[in-house]
Amino acid sequence: EKVHVNTEAKKYSVYIGDGIVDQLPEVIQSQVPDCGKILIITDSNVAPLYLNKVKGLLDGFSVNEWVVPAGETSKSMRELEKGITYALRCELDRHALIIALGGGVVGDLAGFIAATYLRGIRFLQIPTTLLAHDSSVGGKVGVNHTYGKNLIGAFHQPEAVIYDVQFLNTLPAKEWRSGFAEVVKLAFIRDATFYDFLFEKVRSLPVNKEILITIVKRAIEMKAAIVSEDEKEAGIRAYLNFGHTLGHAIEAESRYQSITHGEAVMIGMIFALRLSEVHSHQPIIPKGFLAWIHQLGYANWHATLNKSNLLLETMKKDKKNKKDKIRMVLLKECGSATVSAVENQLLIDQLSTFKE
Ligand code: NAD
Ligand code: ZN
Repeated sequence: EKVHVNTEAKKYSVYIGDGIVDQLPEVIQSQVPDCGKILIITDSNVAPLYLNKVKGLLDGFSVNEWVVPAGETSKSMRELEKGITYALRCELDRHALIIALGGGVVGDLAGFIAATYLRGIRFLQIPTTLLAHDSSVGGKVGVNHTYGKNLIGAFHQPEAVIYDVQFLNTLPAKEWRSGFAEVVKLAFIRDATFYDFLFEKVRSLPVNKEILITIVKRAIEMKAAIVSEDEKEAGIRAYLNFGHTLGHAIEAESRYQSITHGEAVMIGMIFALRLSEVHSHQPIIPKGFLAWIHQLGYANWHATLNKSNLLLETMKKDKKNKKDKIRMVLLKECGSATVSAVENQLLIDQLSTFKE
C-alpha cells in the first residue's frame, strides 16, 4: 500500500504494510539519490527492539546511530545540539541521510536536526507508534521550550515514510489508545463513514494487522489531504485541533506524565462533543460512543478533572483564541467540523457538569 503526499515543497510517498521495512534499501535507492552516510536516530525503548533489524538492512551503507532517552523530554534544544555535535563527529555532509526510527518524539527531533544541520539535509521516517500516522505527515518538525511545547521548529518534509505495522506489536496499551484517539478525531471532523467503520470493527485494542493497515492508510490519506488543502485555503488545518483545547490543558496539568497526548485528547473530544450539542441544540454524540471508548480502555474522565479554573486559564492561552474569547473546534454533525467562539460562562458551566 502506498499513499502519495503532495505538498508545495515536495511530493513523497508513505509506504504502509506488514514487513514493508524490508524495502528500505530500494526506497533509499529510488527516493534518496546519491545517498551518502546514514545516521539513524532512535530512542532507548525502540533501539533494543528494532535498531539491529534496521541496521541489518543497510549493508553496504556507512551507518551511524544515535540513541536518545525515550520520552518527551528528549524533544529539547539540548538534544538538538547533542545530535548536531554527533552528526559533525560522524562527518555527515550534504549527501547524508537521517533516518528517524521511532514515534513522534524521535520524528520531530530527528526531522529538526535534518532541517537545521548544514541548513538542511534529507531525512526519512520509519514510524513505530500509532500516533505517528499524525506526526509523520505534514512536515512539522521541532523541539519544545521550557515555556511550552513545539515552540521551536521548522517545516521539513521527509524523502519517504516507511510505516511498517509489525513495529506496533510491542507498543504499550496506553500508546495504542493515544494514537487511536487521533484516528477517531479524524473520523469525527471529516468522515462519518470512517467513524462507522471504526465503531464496528475496533471492539478492542490492539487491532489485527489487516484492520490496522486500513486504519493507518485512511488516517494518513486524511491528514495529507487536510494539510495540502490548507496550503491553498487557510483554516481547515485548525480542525485537527478538535479535542485539543481541553486536551492540551489536561496534558499541561499532568505535566505530560500520567496521561498520554491522545488520552487527553479523547477527554477533550468528549467535552467538545457535549459543547457541540449545547451549541447547536442537536444530538451529535453517536449512539454508544461513550460505552465503546470505555470498552477500549480509555479511563473515566471524572477523576482527571479536578481544577476547572486552572483548566480554563490554560485553555485561554490557546493559539486559536481571538481577544478574550476561547475559540474551539466543534462538530456540526459527525464527520463535519467548524470553529466557534465559546462564551467563558458556558465553558465554566460545562466544565463543572462535565465532572459529574
Ligand atoms: P513517543 O515517540 O514518545 O512514543 C511513545 C512511547 O512509546 C515512547 O516511550 C517510545 O519509546 C515508545 N515506543 C515507540 N515505539 C514503540 C514500539 N514500537 N514498541 C514499544 N515502545 C515503543 O510519542 P508519540 O506518541 O509517538 O508522539 C508524540 C510526539 O509527537 C509529541 O512530541 C507530539 O508533539 C508529536 N507530534 C508531532 C506532530 C507533527 O505534526 N509533527 C503531530 C502529532 C504529534
Ligand atoms: Zn494531537
